[in-house]
Amino acid sequence: MSLPNKARYVVIGAGIHGLSTAYHLAQRLRAKGRSSEADIIVVDKSHIAAGASGIACGVIRNNYFQPAMRELMAHSVTVWESDPEAYHYHPVGYMQISPEVMHEGVASIYEQQKAIGYESEFIEGEADCTRYMKTFFDDWQAKGITSVLHEKRGGYANNMASMKALAAKAVEAGARIFEGVRVTGFEFGQGSSAVSAVLTDKGRIECDYVVVGAGPWIRDLWSMLDLPTTVSIKGRDGKIYDDVPMWRFWQLEEGVLKVPPDFLKTNDGKMPPVLHVDTDAPLYSDRTGKLITDQLWGIYYKPDFHFNGVQGGAMPYKIDKPVDEVAIDPYGPESPEFVASSDFADMWTSALAFCHKRFEGKSGLYHDEKSGGIGCFTPDSFPVFDVFRENCYVIADSNHGYKMLGVGDLVAQEILGEESALLAPFRQSRYAEGKLHPVSSSPFPWS
Ligand SMILES: Cc1cc2nc3c(=O)[nH]c(=O)nc-3n(C[C@H](O)[C@H](O)[C@H](O)COP(=O)(O)OP(=O)(O)OC[C@H]3O[C@@H](n4cnc5c(N)ncnc54)[C@H](O)[C@@H]3O)c2cc1C
Repeated sequence: MSLPNKARYVVIGAGIHGLSTAYHLAQRLRAKGRSSEADIIVVDKSHIAAGASGIACGVIRNNYFQPAMRELMAHSVTVWESDPEAYHYHPVGYMQISPEVMHEGVASIYEQQKAIGYESEFIEGEADCTRYMKTFFDDWQAKGITSVLHEKRGGYANNMASMKALAAKAVEAGARIFEGVRVTGFEFGQGSSAVSAVLTDKGRIECDYVVVGAGPWIRDLWSMLDLPTTVSIKGRDGKIYDDVPMWRFWQLEEGVLKVPPDFLKTNDGKMPPVLHVDTDAPLYSDRTGKLITDQLWGIYYKPDFHFNGVQGGAMPYKIDKPVDEVAIDPYGPESPEFVASSDFADMWTSALAFCHKRFEGKSGLYHDEKSGGIGCFTPDSFPVFDVFRENCYVIADSNHGYKMLGVGDLVAQEILGEESALLAPFRQSRYAEGKLHPVSSSPFPWS
């Protein structure tokens, strides 16, 4: 299949957002009896799931402090549930296990989950939380936990398998995917700011509409689109803060403990929910006994047959380099610079032992292989879903995104002229207007 020199829709990036948009756009056009207009191509400089979508831990949850994020995630969970087999989706549920400093915030998440009909259970008070956790794991021993939010929906999916299924659905619906095609620039219309052609290393493609789903590479696509590298933000104090960088990078640290995945089964032999534990109790190394931190810390983990062990991660850290100097390629575990550190291994395995007795003395089973990857974040660490230059839809998910399988459907809806109330709180204009999302007390930039 040779790359066409003309296409109605050009989607850049074969990650979760690019493929989901291509699939749902083709499907929606078909449903309207306009299949002939579904002239959709997806181009990727590498291959399907070569970016963050192919290395994501795969956690799917609703637990967000921001009402707009929660409603958006509830929509995406429904899309995961629409075809669990194809998407390799495991609906085991999700638990947010928190210390007192987060209690009030998580209580409000529970109340709002009830209001939107998202099923969850909320346990409060240290003794009741311990009792509740011990009904799942009789060796539960985490200290300083005063609330457990147990989401009954959500869970996780296998990253590559789900992405291949999504690509197959997109192709079946009529989209064409071109791997090994790198976008190098754009041409803009005469007399308008719209994109008239996408320039690639394999040729020029004239188009009517462009969708950018470039994950961490958004910094580069943004620059090719000649969009501003800084923004002005109206803060919560009403003051305008100028020259705030549009992008910054964080390093995500993840790893695998090579125990059999059923090592973390529940007391009744079932696969457990995905567990996310935050606490301000001091954390000591399970290996050396030394204090690792006495600040708020957090981890997440799940047994995973795909990773062949217990897989998870901890808080990310900011990459302390000028944004233009961050080398995104080679990406993920291939990066010589941005992979999980040995400090991470000690912290994460010690945190597992802090939570369950069964993990004590098991740090030697940490899989010593390169893992993790970087994410590109917006100024407030929440997504930007918006149209720029009249005909270019940018999906910049600020690293919240593997779980957001449904965003492509909503983007397709907007491309076809129907605004989505779920995407509206994520416009670029929120910065200038000061319509910012509330900030939680979690140690993660994405909660
Ligand atoms: C280690 C890690 C763990 C994560 N875990 C989770 C999780 O458990 N749950 C969750 O919800 N989210 C998770 N995330 C975040 C999530 O993976 C991302 O938010 C999401 O995958 C981004 O999807 P995307 O489609 O925007 O980008 P990507 O999946 O990164 O896809 C972008 C694609 O664009 C292509 N591309 C880039 N530049 C060009 C160009 N110039 N021309 C052509 N193609 C180009 C790339 O090759 C790539 O394939 C994690 C992220 C990381 C790094």
